[in-house]
Amino acid sequence: MDAWAISSSFYSICFVRVPDGAGRRLEFSGIGEFHLYDSANANGGVTKKLMQFAAKNKPSVLAHVDDTAIDLLMAHAPDARLIWAHTGIGGAPAARVDALFSKYPQLMGELSYRPQGEQAPSGGSERHEVRKRGGPYLCPDWRTLLLKHPTRFMIGSDTWVNQRWQYYEELMKGYRVWLGDLPPDAARRIGWSNGAELFGVKTGN
Ligand SMILES: [Zn+2]
Repeated sequence: MDAWAISSSFYSICFVRVPDGAGRRLEFSGIGEFHLYDSANANGGVTKKLMQFAAKNKPSVLAHVDDTAIDLLMAHAPDARLIWAHTGIGGAPAARVDALFSKYPQLMGELSYRPQGEQAPSGGSERHEVRKRGGPYLCPDWRTLLLKHPTRFMIGSDTWVNQRWQYYEELMKGYRVWLGDLPPDAARRIGWSNGAELFGVKTGN
């Protein structure tokens, strides 16, 4: 499933066509979400070019990857703005996420699809949206992490298929509960303005 990471045709489709037929440059502010199920593919030829393209042209990159791949991706282009989709997915504990955020000032974290439960399900990670199974609040490690880096996290909807929009309202309600447990400025940043600023949306502040 990671074939795109080493396929030169993928790169051509995405980037060689960036200027349109009239020679105008097409504008976009983000690339992704892309998946790498095998973190070694973060070293794929296309992946490397994509990160270097992002560093040069400044679109943000949203990557669904594990923590090992974060190191590999950032090694290609330390100046790229990388957003880690479902931050910590793959099982990275809060301390590991904290270390990556300290190491890479350009790294940001998106917080959708964090499987719940005391044990990480396969392919998931330890939960951060709940204190205990079914509970609505952040667990202490992740609350501390978010408050340590309040300018670098953002909520997300993970609406990658139409069906997901059916759960959008419920998802946002859940976010409001734990955001309401944070200091207002941090909640406002994580819930809205970090993402808005990143993509040039007026915040109204
Ligand atoms: Zn994803």
